[in-house]
Amino acid sequence: QYLSGNEIRNIFLDFFAQRNHQILPSASLVPEDPTVLLTIAGMLPFKPIFLGQRTPEFKRATTSQKCIRTNDIENVGRTKRHHTFFEMLGNFSFGDYFKEQAIAWGWEISTQVFGFSPNNLVVSVFEDDDEAFGIWRDQIGVPIARIKRLGEDDNFWVSGPTGPCGPCSEIYYDFHPERGDENIDLEDDSRFIEFYNLVFMQYNRDASGNLTPLQNKNIDTGMGLERMAQILQKVPNNYETDLIFPIIQTAAQIAGIDYHKSDEKTKVSLKVIGDHVRSVVHMIADEIRASNVGRGYVLRRLIRRVVRHGRLIGISGEFTTQVAETAIALSESAYPNVRQREAAIKAELQREESNFLTTLDRGEKLLEEIVQELKQQGSTQISGKSAFKLYDTYGFPLELTQEIATENDLTVDVEGFEVEMEIQKGRGRDAHETIDLTVQGSLDKLAEHIQVTEFLGYTQPATTAKVE
Ligand code: ATP
Ligand code: MG
Ligand code: MG
Ligand code: MG
Repeated sequence: QYLSGNEIRNIFLDFFAQRNHQILPSASLVPEDPTVLLTIAGMLPFKPIFLGQRTPEFKRATTSQKCIRTNDIENVGRTKRHHTFFEMLGNFSFGDYFKEQAIAWGWEISTQVFGFSPNNLVVSVFEDDDEAFGIWRDQIGVPIARIKRLGEDDNFWVSGPTGPCGPCSEIYYDFHPERGDENIDLEDDSRFIEFYNLVFMQYNRDASGNLTPLQNKNIDTGMGLERMAQILQKVPNNYETDLIFPIIQTAAQIAGIDYHKSDEKTKVSLKVIGDHVRSVVHMIADEIRASNVGRGYVLRRLIRRVVRHGRLIGISGEFTTQVAETAIALSESAYPNVRQREAAIKAELQREESNFLTTLDRGEKLLEEIVQELKQQGSTQISGKSAFKLYDTYGFPLELTQEIATENDLTVDVEGFEVEMEIQKGRGRDAHETIDLTVQGSLDKLAEHIQVTEFLGYTQPATTAKVE
């Protein structure tokens, strides 16, 4: 009875097609823009149009754009709403309609088409944007207690350190309006979820941060498909929607476990698998190959995280092609290229997985030796150096070493490990051959090892980037 992910996508595109928007296919995850590693938003393919470098064929367009955000990798499975791979629904105006119309349609599709009650909606505007505030209040009739003014981090959208940007206004779903208008804190994700961002794209930002007005006033919007599915399908998080959950079930089945009966840690692993498998399927479909640099490195890291999390939930053999099959089946109607590229996807996964499993096996042997030696010496702690070697050379996340240590009544010198990590960082950024294989390696670590272009994966400038 609930709308499926595919239906939500079609309803959005139809709504804007009826309002003279041209429906365009999703662009590749590999952007034309050479300064950006991966497509991070629906606007990216239109950047040259916003900058006035290309004349658009249409004044209005609507898309469902495949996106990858590596800056959200640590949020995957931990928040209810973040993925590395997701689809962004968007409506765009290239120097045609602007604020008033974008807000009116944004409200109409949310309330009339998707049927959200105005009581369940809260909106935000950029702190200085009195115009947007006024439109929500006077033309839409949103009570002022439910219009929040937010600062640059949230409500000034930039696609990177430089480029087209502008103030934005966002629509949040309120799961608990009964908690009252007095205590609205949009950061509280037990109550609110941001689902639709309306960007008033009117400036270009240069390297020194100066804003100059663009030739046109444009509209760029982004609605998260998986988040809409979460709300409309009344499930507790994006992962349990029909867009992703079957992948999780496939992995759980291989592991011989039941998602709903699993503890939190296992659920996180299943969610990581569910998310990353979608990313890698679409990345390989878009001709990215695993390597040690740039987007190939992102791909490799994602595949290795899938394998690692598979092990954490008790899968011992190869399994990635099987879960990939579920992901392909789920998205082939909207993205036929995933089926066309099925053989390439599976071959790449198989090769990466088996290589990585070999490395992991070698690491396990080394760890066994270390444990034996320690036992002979009567010591109870694995040194930071050893833990780091396991991590650095054999791809052992600290967590895994700790787990095995605990099984053997040993501890790990975590501080020593971190010291080694700092030393490693100091060795410079050319160390491409040293790959971060960890399950929980941070974005910083990722960025260290990748070309500087990786930084442009941010949706906020590096200085204001915020990882929730
Ligand atoms: P959040 O504050 O929740 O991290 P955002 O402000 O970074 O989201 P935008 O850059 O405004 O997101 O992107 C537009 C829309 O795309 C969001 O409103 C959301 O619906 C969706 N979206 C953004 N990032 C993700 C993600 N990592 N996973 C799933 N959907 C996302
Ligand atoms: Mg974000
Ligand atoms: Mg936000
Ligand atoms: Mg936003």
